[in-house]
Amino acid sequence: MTHACRRIVATGAALLTGLAGIAVIPPPAQAAPAQTEARAQGKVRYNTKTATSIGYGGAVTSVDPEASKIGIQVLRRGGNAVDAAVATAAALGVTEPYSSGIGGGGYFLHYDARTRKIGTIDGRETAPRTMPRNAFIDPRTGKPYNFTPQLVTSGVSVGTPGTLATWQKALRRWGTGSLAKVLRPATRLARRGFVVDKTFNQQTADNADRFANFPATRKLFLPGGKPPAVGSVFRNRDLAATYRLIGRRGTKVFYRGKLGRQIARTAQHPQKRRHPSLPIPAGHLTRRDLARYTAKVQAPTHVRYRGLDVFGPAPSSSGGSTVGEALNILERFDLRSMSDTDALHHYLEAGALAFADRGEYVGDPAFVKVPLAALLSDKYAAERACEIQPMHAATKPEDPGNVADYDGTCRATPAPARTKPDTENINTTNLTVTDRRGNIVEYTLTIEQTGGSGITVPHRGFLLNNELTDFTTEYDAADPNRIQPGKRPRSSIAPTVVLRNGAPFLALGSPGGATIITTVLQLLFDRVDRGMTIQQAIAAPRASPRNAADVSSEPAFIAKYGTALEAYGHSFARAGDAFTSASEIGAATAIEFGPGGRLTAVSEPVRRGGGSALVVRK
Ligand code: GLU
Repeated sequence: MTHACRRIVATGAALLTGLAGIAVIPPPAQAAPAQTEARAQGKVRYNTKTATSIGYGGAVTSVDPEASKIGIQVLRRGGNAVDAAVATAAALGVTEPYSSGIGGGGYFLHYDARTRKIGTIDGRETAPRTMPRNAFIDPRTGKPYNFTPQLVTSGVSVGTPGTLATWQKALRRWGTGSLAKVLRPATRLARRGFVVDKTFNQQTADNADRFANFPATRKLFLPGGKPPAVGSVFRNRDLAATYRLIGRRGTKVFYRGKLGRQIARTAQHPQKRRHPSLPIPAGHLTRRDLARYTAKVQAPTHVRYRGLDVFGPAPSSSGGSTVGEALNILERFDLRSMSDTDALHHYLEAGALAFADRGEYVGDPAFVKVPLAALLSDKYAAERACEIQPMHAATKPEDPGNVADYDGTCRATPAPARTKPDTENINTTNLTVTDRRGNIVEYTLTIEQTGGSGITVPHRGFLLNNELTDFTTEYDAADPNRIQPGKRPRSSIAPTVVLRNGAPFLALGSPGGATIITTVLQLLFDRVDRGMTIQQAIAAPRASPRNAADVSSEPAFIAKYGTALEAYGHSFARAGDAFTSASEIGAATAIEFGPGGRLTAVSEPVRRGGGSALVVRK
């Protein structure tokens, strides 16, 4: 896979050669040297990729060169970080339609350079008001639907989308442009198309069997019955028209108008082929659910870590609380004076402990009492840190701590154990933006599984999420993440901003389901405690300690550290699942803020085909 040419924008005549929306355009003969700007080659412009850019005046980093470029153009034309972030996100809806889009949700974190305040928007998908607690039980068998691909490919897993409400709220509170204006570049991109790369082709191929069940999805994403070929131009005119409609009529057309009616109808009665290969249980989403949806403005989570202030999203995401708790635990140890292996052992143990508490205590705070203050307190972390033995990995799963009774000392405080399996895919997408004034947006958005529910809203050009599969599948009255009507399923999304002496130091985030938490934690640990640069931290091999018997890890991590850490009693399993062919963890983006306004914008050099980090001025 050449990183230099993952996406290629085609223009004008090149597209006219296409049949049924597809024109084959050969990629450049060899990988172009990394560079930020597109270079013109006849009628086709090849957008090259840059994993890291250093410069001034603003920066945008995402997994996709078209999206990052659109964000940079917004900044260059005087838009602020929020305008650019929404424009970038809308473009990702075009080029990353299996990971994000207006059929999904996400968490938006904003740092205001003037007030130095951080605000977040919880744009999480929400369970319909009529969703029954046994929604994930197959009535034919009385047992839960098999998770992948059966449950994930369903109307029943479609939550009320929050992405569009998030964009509107962010623009109104902190942006300068209208929604209509910031949607325009992505509208043009959807109409004009981008050239399919190996990642897009592979993601489509991984989903082809379930996509084929839905005529609208098949028509859009499997033209001619096959995944779009590498080098062909993929256009989404339906999405362009949808963006234009929203630009003209505002979000009400989505939440209270004809788009909303169509979304509800599609979730309740997905159009399927005559003999579908999967059960495809129908959903419960109604127009009323859409009309009642709100993206919530929330205070961020906050912990101090070695003199830094670390902010993340509050529940309904477990991202901020779990990263925060793990950092507080790690802070008890002088990691810098340890050998690398000892430090990694502590990282693995802290991650497991924080995950035990996540499973026991975190859910949507509108429905369950989340002991956030305890989870983020140093005293509680001091007590949890007592569970870590210097040279010896604890048996997993670890029990959660006792948030009702802690005093920071090492003593036995039993609490019930509960562990639920997490899904783990490289889905979702993340972007980091800053503008010339120093405002920052860190934003993770998703439709959950790569390919979401697999259900495209007919003639609208976007997939519906399957975010409700983030609820615990089987109802358990004691589980904070049990299904409840109107509730937001617990997320792991963790857009994070770090301040040093009250000024921005780092902004970062990642996709990856529950591995998001450990990726963000590992990035901070690698950058702050292991002395890596942010570029090195993003490239470094990952392990995802989530309180399971085996630590799910990238093969490169196992190859490098496996033997040394097995001596402590850790055991490892290759990351990934049967559904995707990759065994990568995360596809992070970050911006580091240096002296004199110097910005280091970083995206993945390799994972998910590599990303694109751009600056306004080199
Ligand atoms: N559903 C995930 C979460 O909110 C995000 C999607 C993913 O990356 O798996 O935690």
